[in-house]
Amino acid sequence: MKSKINYLLLDLDGTLILGNRVLKGAVDFVSELIHHKKKFLILTNNSSRSSKEYLKFMRTKGFPVELKHIFTSGKATCLFLKEKNIKDAYILGTPGVIREFASYGVTFNPESANLVVTFDTSLNYRKLEVATKILLKRKGIFVATHPDNVCPVEDGFIPDVGAFLALLREATGRVPDAIPGKPNEYFFQKAMEMMNAKKEETAIVGDRITTDIKTGRDFGITSILLLTGETRQEDLDVAPVKPDLVFRDLTEFMASLWGEL
Ligand SMILES: [Mg+2]
Repeated sequence: MKSKINYLLLDLDGTLILGNRVLKGAVDFVSELIHHKKKFLILTNNSSRSSKEYLKFMRTKGFPVELKHIFTSGKATCLFLKEKNIKDAYILGTPGVIREFASYGVTFNPESANLVVTFDTSLNYRKLEVATKILLKRKGIFVATHPDNVCPVEDGFIPDVGAFLALLREATGRVPDAIPGKPNEYFFQKAMEMMNAKKEETAIVGDRITTDIKTGRDFGITSILLLTGETRQEDLDVAPVKPDLVFRDLTEFMASLWGEL
């Protein structure tokens, strides 16, 4: 522990929830963070929902969060495109996500030279056809929200953006010019800016060693691993990167949190 922790980057899937199930202690944990005036962001690479839709989902699950607490790879991509002054794009995305891009000044346009790929759970052949034709013209920018090949769900895995990108690469030979979601440093840089966080007072809390914990290390912030998702104790023993702290779940984390942080 470097010093008192006042800012937290919280991974969502495998840390706070798993699919549709709220993990043990998660709601109490987030409530305590608010009560103790800690600043935090809930991070997810899942770009099938807009930030507003995520807010609604989290509230339905009992989390007392606000819009400012949600940071998706979709929102990171909106910020990225806005910085690049991109005004329109053909977006593979759900209606809510397309609306979120519009709110950042990126209008949905099937005639655009730019292509944005998000976790479009309403994807169909016609959309792939339009996307392929745009890429083959080689004129605009090609951006994807995140690189994950599959998304874990309660009964297995479903194809995610990385799999869509593989299809488009086979068809066009093109790979994205930028992928602003995790594990891109851009994503964490933006998250830190949004909280106005100081590195020495920031911790990342997650369930994956190769992404969450590695990022914490690379970024010079405290890394906290929870054994509620992907990583098991035996994986941790042989892991090349070690977290600063490990907890079985958020209840155990909370028991030591206010004394230690
Ligand atoms: Mg996770």
